[in-house]
Amino acid sequence: MENHNEDECIFCKRNDNEVPLVGLSFRGIKYSICPQHIPILIHDPQKLAGMLPGAEDMVAG
Ligand SMILES: [Zn+2]
Repeated sequence: MENHNEDECIFCKRNDNEVPLVGLSFRGIKYSICPQHIPILIHDPQKLAGMLPGAEDMVAG
């Protein structure tokens, strides 16, 4: 599994010095995502495959 930093957006890798971050957890692991990328998590989570392990199994809302 790829290392991740829970203090940066899983998608664009910006940290909270650059953008506000929203915390989430998935399968017991904590992540952060910025508001710009929350719609991807909601509507197109398969795009997070490789960034969020298991994202390919998520169902779009
Ligand atoms: Zn982002």
